[in-house]
Amino acid sequence: MMEALKNTDPETYAALREELARQKTTIDLIASENYVSLAVLEALGSVATNKYSEGYPNKRYYAGNKNIDAIEQLAIERAKKLFQAEHANVQPHSGAPANIAVYNAILEPGDTILAMHLNYGGHLTHGHAVTTLAKTYNFVRYKVNKNTGEIDFKELEEIAKKEKPKLILVGYSAYSKDLDYAAFKRIADLVGAYTMADIAHIAGLIAAGEMKNPFPLFDIVTTTTHKTLRGPRGGLILCKEKLAAQIDKAVFPGFQGGPHDNGIAAKAVCFKEALEPSFKEYVKQIKNNATALCKELQKLGFTICFGGTENHLLLINLENKQVSGAEAEKALEKVGIVLNKNMVPEDKRRPMDPSGIRMGTPAVTTRGMKEEEMEKIAHFMHEAIVNREDEAKLLELKEQVTSLAKQFPIYQDLTY
Ligand SMILES: *Cc1c(COP(=O)(O)O)cnc(C)c1O
Repeated sequence: MMEALKNTDPETYAALREELARQKTTIDLIASENYVSLAVLEALGSVATNKYSEGYPNKRYYAGNKNIDAIEQLAIERAKKLFQAEHANVQPHSGAPANIAVYNAILEPGDTILAMHLNYGGHLTHGHAVTTLAKTYNFVRYKVNKNTGEIDFKELEEIAKKEKPKLILVGYSAYSKDLDYAAFKRIADLVGAYTMADIAHIAGLIAAGEMKNPFPLFDIVTTTTHKTLRGPRGGLILCKEKLAAQIDKAVFPGFQGGPHDNGIAAKAVCFKEALEPSFKEYVKQIKNNATALCKELQKLGFTICFGGTENHLLLINLENKQVSGAEAEKALEKVGIVLNKNMVPEDKRRPMDPSGIRMGTPAVTTRGMKEEEMEKIAHFMHEAIVNREDEAKLLELKEQVTSLAKQFPIYQDLTY
């Protein structure tokens, strides 16, 4: 495989070859990552990348779109079925563009959006000061109770009544609990706001029926397709029929040009896979693994934010471990455990070296790991953090981690 690439561009080929080896031999605990199937990879690397298809199925600005129409229609129908949605737009290039397109569709510059405080797991596109969105819209914030992880709906109602947001935004990147969509909807109705759930992280769990679905209550749902949904990098917008035309217009021509048809083909494959009964089993195991990892880490003295997990991820506050998030991330990478540093609620440290780490089980579960392996991983993590100055010990741990990864191979039939 990869003969043409190897001949044309040895440098890119070499880096990709290294990347495949890295993925095979390390343990990926990044909560937003996963390993796609070979079928998804094939669709992504297909000739669909050659096509221009501005517009929507049967309404294109270019000729020759018979097959692309069929592919996009498959993706749309499957996405609707997966999330019990009235309408789906499968064209957003990724999660951030999907969110921006929604804001463009239903808001005017200067309108108020009520979103979660960013230190509590809100995403950059939920109005971080470094984004252009923060200049366009007026973001106001609600929080969660730092200890229980519960959203304070009384406070949220007060803020909503005072600020009169046009949109209430729900859904986060580092939040480990399920959500009471009905409570958000009740407050949105009081002030006449639209409701949007950004389920980028938990889409797979919702699709499998293992977490609450914002539909039929919410107006709009956005997601990525590459996190728990285990598809290609991409975005997806789902909405009520009454908003369909507005949303479609905002994606194209409002914000994007031609869709990435190879990505849409890969999304269609991903949605088909997620509709299979085996995907439900996969998602159940993701949750069981997260719970097992959580329990073992708690036994080892780690502080899990919000008291635990109801989904695929854990946010750990390392303050009591006398190690920063960045130091822990570095020590763990040395032993072959890959995760990311993360701010924790009311963090006193800086974003580049915060007090926490975030981790998730979607990727290790795809490898076939179960509760027993989660316990081993928790111990490896503990050992690596405690012995972070001891290079010999780290090397020894790295061998054990590599050996565990190799016992649960991925991409066995793939050699670059
Ligand atoms: C990952 C994520 C996104 C953005 O996805 P990209 O594909 O990286 O643009 C948006 N919202 C939330 C809550 C996310 O976790």
